[in-house]
Amino acid sequence: MYFDSHAHYYDSRFCDEFEGGANALLNKLFAKKICAIINVGDSIKASKKCIAQASAYKNMYVAAGIHPSCAGKEGTLDEARIALCDLLDDAEKNKIVALGEIGFDYHYDDTDRETQKAFFEMQMRVAEMYGLPVVIHDREAHGDCFDMVCEYPNVRGVFHSYSGSAEMAAELIKRGWMISFSGVVTFKNAERVRAVAKSVPLDKMFIETDCPYLAPHPHRGECNHSGLLEFTAATLGEVHGVTGEEIARITAENAAGFFGIKL
Ligand SMILES: [Zn+2]
Repeated sequence: MYFDSHAHYYDSRFCDEFEGGANALLNKLFAKKICAIINVGDSIKASKKCIAQASAYKNMYVAAGIHPSCAGKEGTLDEARIALCDLLDDAEKNKIVALGEIGFDYHYDDTDRETQKAFFEMQMRVAEMYGLPVVIHDREAHGDCFDMVCEYPNVRGVFHSYSGSAEMAAELIKRGWMISFSGVVTFKNAERVRAVAKSVPLDKMFIETDCPYLAPHPHRGECNHSGLLEFTAATLGEVHGVTGEEIARITAENAAGFFGIKL
């Protein structure tokens, strides 16, 4: 059984590509392969969709937050903070176990960096206030993401679809952070990511899809879903000299423990 620590099941692509949409797909996945999913919002609107979806599945949970690429579209910083806190005030009822995804995106760079920083910082403060872990989106912004999280030593979280160095992973782990690997680790040209994965102790690791994005090899480019996690787990197993099943079991225990979820 796999724990998908990062998915976006509200994405319209699931309706387009699966008969019965995300609901039919999720019913099948929870019946067979998947023990839990964190449905991650990238905006206030998406976070509300995550909450609605999670209410229908016993083992679906929510991360609510504003992605750097959405940071410019949520009104003023104050308006965004109030809307986010509205959701977090009912964290238990809304099944919110983390704040995210938040961070920096210097790849698309579609929001000016000042705004990205202001929203990242505001959400780190909110996470500290609510005592919630955070889900970090770090796209070509390793140094700035690392500096930001170091400024909030009381906040813990996970770097999702990790693409930084082994050295930075070690520094994060030392500070109580977790490292999550996506289907990228299976890509033919991802030797570097596999080398980093090898350096991360198994008890500090999560696995994720980031679906509908980042489908693992040999499904690269298709619409990703939690049922494809076995390919990611198998690759991480090869890297660490254990079976894919072992990776599934350990990463599920890690994520459940970290997010305070009873499996
Ligand atoms: Zn994501």
